[in-house]
Amino acid sequence: MNIWHPYTQHKTALPPIEMVRGEGAYLYDNAGNEYLDAISSWWVTLHGHANPILAEAIASQAKILEQVIFAGFTHPQAQKLANNLLSILPKNQQKVFFSDDGSTAVEVGLKMAFQYWHNQGITHKTRLIALNNAYHGDTFGAMAIGERGGFTAPFAPFLFEVDFVPAPIAGQEEKSLSAFEKLLKTDQIAAFIFEPLVQGAGGMCMYSPEILDKMLDLCKEYNVITIADEVMTGFGRTGKLFASLHLERNMPDIFCLSKGLTGGFLPLGITTATQKIFDAFWSDSKLHTLFHGHSFTANPIACAVANASFELLISENCEKQRQNIANSHQVFLEKIKKNPLVKEVRQQGTILAIEIKTPEKTSYFNNIRDILYNFFISKRILLRPLGNVVYILPPYCISKEDLERVYDVIEEGINE
Ligand code: PMP
Repeated sequence: MNIWHPYTQHKTALPPIEMVRGEGAYLYDNAGNEYLDAISSWWVTLHGHANPILAEAIASQAKILEQVIFAGFTHPQAQKLANNLLSILPKNQQKVFFSDDGSTAVEVGLKMAFQYWHNQGITHKTRLIALNNAYHGDTFGAMAIGERGGFTAPFAPFLFEVDFVPAPIAGQEEKSLSAFEKLLKTDQIAAFIFEPLVQGAGGMCMYSPEILDKMLDLCKEYNVITIADEVMTGFGRTGKLFASLHLERNMPDIFCLSKGLTGGFLPLGITTATQKIFDAFWSDSKLHTLFHGHSFTANPIACAVANASFELLISENCEKQRQNIANSHQVFLEKIKKNPLVKEVRQQGTILAIEIKTPEKTSYFNNIRDILYNFFISKRILLRPLGNVVYILPPYCISKEDLERVYDVIEEGINE
């Protein structure tokens, strides 16, 4: 064993299961066992594993143009992807910047926001607001704006200072809003970054579009850039193509995208921005350039599969699949919320989260997590509880029968 796995304490973890094949909502191990993937393999798979249309897009692009430097050069798949994304994002989004994954999409968003002020000679806007319980990735900038705790403790001295406000979940809205406005009044805030409507890794905590709209109203009033981290919520997960499309009055200035962008086939990150943000970089001075770029920026194969995934995503069939998942979740929610062992059930579109009552407080490190995870694996279902929160975030191709099986096993797991 020479591989160091992510988020794995190798001393106590069971050996990893070797997966050799995937098809639709299923993964198959080296002994031929099938596992139902109810979490889209870390929230990336949209249209199923080894989807033949997406596989074909990769194979054909690899034979045409596999990679080209993206500074000084462009290519048709990147242009097509930019047009595709802008056609479904809010209308204020005008410019598309490519990177590698969710964390780098977030890093780019932060750099755009800080440099937007810097390029205009505005020196007092140097602070960021983020939400408690947030998760934005594992690179240093992304860690800095996420909830500080066990994950980030070894790096605490190296993370830049951020102003955190309580997430505006039900019952906490006023507290959140007043802390938020107090910070905005300092006139030092460059940007506000948030996971719209659903804080994923923080335990699938949900809040309303109405309260987010109020927060964005304030950002407009105090001239603060708004950054929507839609790395998890993007591409249909929340019932609309992007969670920010649930907002009534406001549109964020910057969007960070990844995960479902390529249907979950290849890593790719994208940060989009308004014309106004871009204009602050448009200059005769080279120092106003956005100095950011990765070796594989806008890799043509990744863009090609993202374009193929886009076509599937916007099809009527996929929309119907998402609606069916949401409807099934709704029925199960009504049932499971009556279970005395359940503290709260939350749903937003295709995402369903069940918070289990435990003597310990809600946390990623809650001991019930490992017991439940192993129970689900023994039933050949891939569910990775976030502490005492069990959630389902399935690929859109999952069948009604398979969803029912996931619900049954969750119920069994909770009752045991
Ligand atoms: N933002 C959010 C909201 C995420 O959920 C994640 C990953 N879970 C990231 C950013 C980081 O993405 P990646 O793991 O691709 O770097």
